[in-house]
Amino acid sequence: MKLILLGAPGAGKGTQAEIISEKYNIPTISTGNIIRAALKNGTEMGLKAKAYIDAGNLVPDDVVIGIIKERLSEKDCENGYILDGFPRTIPQAEALDRMGFAIDAALSIEVADEEIVKRMSGRRVCGKCGASYHTEYKKPERDGICNLCGEDLIIRKDDEPDTVKNRLAVFHDQTEPLKEYYKTSGKLLIVEGQDKVEDTTRLVLTALEKVK
Ligand code: ADP
Ligand code: ZN
Repeated sequence: MKLILLGAPGAGKGTQAEIISEKYNIPTISTGNIIRAALKNGTEMGLKAKAYIDAGNLVPDDVVIGIIKERLSEKDCENGYILDGFPRTIPQAEALDRMGFAIDAALSIEVADEEIVKRMSGRRVCGKCGASYHTEYKKPERDGICNLCGEDLIIRKDDEPDTVKNRLAVFHDQTEPLKEYYKTSGKLLIVEGQDKVEDTTRLVLTALEKVK
């Protein structure tokens, strides 16, 4: 399965991606995680991206398109993949089509803005592996500690309230038009995000049964 996850920042794409990834045995490719890893390692690309990310703006298309092209060419992507956070603009979607990486479906997880703002304030991420948690909806086994690698959980700088507002504006302006893009090609699936992760998961898995 070759799947795109669409949705506002904080709609729960990453969480659902982890579950789908395990069930279908395909990798999740998160441009956000790749960029943050580059930033942490101090690479040139990471440094270039930092100011955009911290302000809640999108990193330039050519940078993320380059990242995706490289990553999708790796061997583990042969049987499918989940794209979490790419494409985020029409030019990125067009580039993906041009590169010849087919997709079977684009699944949009829909969550209202007010709910997003509430959720983001409780989001915590692992400083090492990038796994994400929530103080209310997705608690780690031990307070403030990653289940997967035992590292401390932190608040992402771009999850602070003012930055979240900007990220939502950017989402509505630049990313939401992708729904129309994939609707036109008959690939759009829509799922209403629920309060409980497992309720959303049930809807997501049901929607994916229709995909080959
Ligand atoms: P979320 O899923 O919470 O929106 P991500 O981790 O996907 O957050 O992305 C964090 C930031 O990384 C974005 O706000 C943006 O600056 C940058 N980024 C990630 N993916 C892309 C993309 N496809 N195009 C442009 N910028 C991106
Ligand atoms: Zn971790």
